[in-house]
Amino acid sequence: MIAGDAFQGRTVAVFGLARSGLSAVRALKAGRVEVFAWDDKESYREAAREAGAKIIPWTEWPWDHLTAIVLSPGVPLTHPKPHDVVERAREWDVEVIGDIEIFARSMPAAPVIAITGTNGKSTTTALIGHILKEAGFDAQVGGNIGQPVLDLAPPNARTIYVIEISSYQIDLSPGLTPDVSLLTNITPDHIDRHGSLEGYAAVKQKLLHQTKKTGLNIVGIDDMLCASIFTQLSANSGPSCVAVSVGKVLGRGVFVLDGLLYNAGNDRAAKVMDLTAATHLPGAHNWQNAALAYAAVKPYVTDTRILTEAIVSFPGLAHRIEDVGRIGKVRFINDSKATNADAAERALVCFDDIYWIIGGRPKAGGIASLEPHFSRVRKAYLIGEASDAFAATLKGRVEYNACGTLEVAVAAAASDASQSKAAAPVVLLSPACASFDQFQSFEQRGDAFRALVSHLAPEAA
Ligand code: ADP
Repeated sequence: MIAGDAFQGRTVAVFGLARSGLSAVRALKAGRVEVFAWDDKESYREAAREAGAKIIPWTEWPWDHLTAIVLSPGVPLTHPKPHDVVERAREWDVEVIGDIEIFARSMPAAPVIAITGTNGKSTTTALIGHILKEAGFDAQVGGNIGQPVLDLAPPNARTIYVIEISSYQIDLSPGLTPDVSLLTNITPDHIDRHGSLEGYAAVKQKLLHQTKKTGLNIVGIDDMLCASIFTQLSANSGPSCVAVSVGKVLGRGVFVLDGLLYNAGNDRAAKVMDLTAATHLPGAHNWQNAALAYAAVKPYVTDTRILTEAIVSFPGLAHRIEDVGRIGKVRFINDSKATNADAAERALVCFDDIYWIIGGRPKAGGIASLEPHFSRVRKAYLIGEASDAFAATLKGRVEYNACGTLEVAVAAAASDASQSKAAAPVVLLSPACASFDQFQSFEQRGDAFRALVSHLAPEAA
């Protein structure tokens, strides 16, 4: 754990006591800070009380004594409207920060690689951590993925912090000055929390403006917003800036063409590796993640062989085009994280002869946008609330079976795939829907899929 020493002897209040809030309480107490805390949930309050916080409703906090309040990233800071606790903090001129800000102020000397963007954050973060570990660094990976930052280990001489940071967390971390900041891409998402796409892009961009002057900014330039952010950053006299593209040849930067990764500079492009060898990073979207990770670790990992071998040996993340086993000729892929059509598209393009399990709680637009890929689907297996709507989209285009539950769908898809003439059929759970109608989370849905596959053939998973 990292102690919140920067606030030693002060009084700080924590609002929202789920994972990162509770970890902030513990870190602040370890830093000898007086901590007040509140959460509407009794069980969360209890854990914070045990950690040494004074549990008092926020309206009764000693506002004239507070140095800062630590806000959970789930609590609205600006849009759709600031939470009342934020308004109160402003009235009293009390700073509103997040757990990452405590981290940043309490240990300013440790190297930090920070990763943000709409998609690919977790994969890129985990891949950077994996490469650094393979190269002998003490990579401490956390933030929006895995452990909250304050739960990470204190630094030693080989430590590099690899932090996934959402736009909500950027807003609450003005003092984070990464050595490397990485922006994967920007597409419309979470606009509700930022007012507009421009507002959302501005927050993401803020992180890159916080990078140390001697540091590095890395930007995936394949969407319009990121391309324009890159152009603006390169025109500034700030940190060096590296462009990353999949599909475009760059005179300077890192790019991928037909799965081959190139590093371009000094008038020539050198081939680095064949990314198709990285079997747990399938698809062009993962080539973007791999190219971004390569650019981020290059300043630290000078041995290219170690670096490229680490990309190949990356085990992948659970629930994202995760290979969970094979029974006979049938492969089973868990892509439960695909909670919308865009994400499902990334998986569909990776396979032929797909036996596709879809459904759950549908998102606006359904799966109509996926029609160009329907020719890869041998049969669809519908589950959850989306069944009728998806059946209407598939009718006359793709054969389907209304299965109701995941259990029925897995059994039917496995049986059809194994009896098919296809040489390498794939049963793919890529639901293009939220899970909440039948599961608590996409993780629980993916775990259920994995368990069902292992019951079909215990040795498969
Ligand atoms: P995040 O942490 O940003 O949500 P993940 O790495 O967890 O991203 O990937 C989540 C989903 O987003 C994946 O299942 C895939 O469908 C999609 N995805 C991943 N990387 C990219 C990328 N670089 N560009 C577009 N979509 C991506």
